[in-house]
Amino acid sequence: MINLVLFGKPGAGKGTQAVFLKKRYNLLHISTGDLFRYNIKNETALGILAKSYMDNGDLVPDQVTIDMLEAEVDRYPKAKGFIFDGFPRTESQAEALDIFLEGKKMKITITIALEADDNILVKRLLERGKSSGRTDDQDELKIRNRFEEYNQKTAPLKLYYQDQNKFHSISGIGSIEEIAERLAQLLDRF
Ligand code: AMP
Repeated sequence: MINLVLFGKPGAGKGTQAVFLKKRYNLLHISTGDLFRYNIKNETALGILAKSYMDNGDLVPDQVTIDMLEAEVDRYPKAKGFIFDGFPRTESQAEALDIFLEGKKMKITITIALEADDNILVKRLLERGKSSGRTDDQDELKIRNRFEEYNQKTAPLKLYYQDQNKFHSISGIGSIEEIAERLAQLLDRF
């Protein structure tokens, strides 16, 4: 079983690479951002709550996010492993994930951060915003706020996972295939 956490700022290519990885390693892809967007579209109570945070590019409160993630994992008791895309994003989420997985005799296998320069990411996101319609991708101030959230709350998780010998980072610049190859080189060890 491989349980992979993909780190990287918005636009770094986590979702794109998850599509490739889930096929190659037979994993389930869970994106907390996608789950929130699904709830917003369906106007659930969770969606209504999450929307105000997402619209500003702020993180949704931890407990709400943790509960949603755990419920999603519980839907797939037969999964061969998971790709966590966009989760954890804070230290309390990371701790909750470890405790939750431990209770199921599972653990995080490896975490990989996709690195790219902020200015390149802003360009990518504004481009994506034109076709995706995502309002958080259409405004540079909101994008920069999401980077700030990442720097302050998510980047420190590097230390959290380094302490467990599970942190790796690769360049997220290059073709989709090149980046996929970099990821595969790390994952093929397991
Ligand atoms: P993403 O699609 O991963 O870029 O996430 C879009 C937005 O969803 C973020 O800017 C947050 O508002 C919210 N979100 C997604 N994942 C999390 C998380 N793990 N913790 C808190 N908020 C999240």
